[in-house]
Amino acid sequence: MKIDLSPILGGETDELKLDYPLTIQEDFPGVTFPKPVRVLGTIINRAGYIALSAVADLTYETVCDRCLAPITKTFSLPFQKTVALSGTLENEDRDDYLIAEDRMLDLDEPLTEALILDFPTKNLCSEECKGLCQHCGKDLNEGPCSCNKKEIDPRLAGLAKFLSKNN
Ligand SMILES: [Zn+2]
Ligand SMILES: [Zn+2]
Repeated sequence: MKIDLSPILGGETDELKLDYPLTIQEDFPGVTFPKPVRVLGTIINRAGYIALSAVADLTYETVCDRCLAPITKTFSLPFQKTVALSGTLENEDRDDYLIAEDRMLDLDEPLTEALILDFPTKNLCSEECKGLCQHCGKDLNEGPCSCNKKEIDPRLAGLAKFLSKNN
């Protein structure tokens, strides 16, 4: 969404409230968004210094990193920037600034970029997820598979070596 900064620049108000749904256009590999991201925040003018403070709340669907079960997660991204008008900064590439063109601030693009950077990279159905067996692919959360039985318990490996040496 493009936010019209005119009321805050013209002095009609000191504070603009934001509450709008952002539809993610970028591709997040392996992740889908069942509903738009909720963007909540304020833009405050303090004697010409314009500060934006927002939070993007989202729900996403993906699969567990270990067992591949479908999971639904939530994520909140805090987003704080200083807003500057186009042409007023010497270097407009500065990361801590958002640049408003013709008094209009496009928040969706920088917010989506921040989401891509900070998006959770670890997704588990539970911290205790046992994952899939690397040999047979069985979901070990549902119970042990028969592969483990064939392998020698590492705690007993020393004993097995000792016994084979003495035979
Ligand atoms: Zn899992
Ligand atoms: Zn197995």
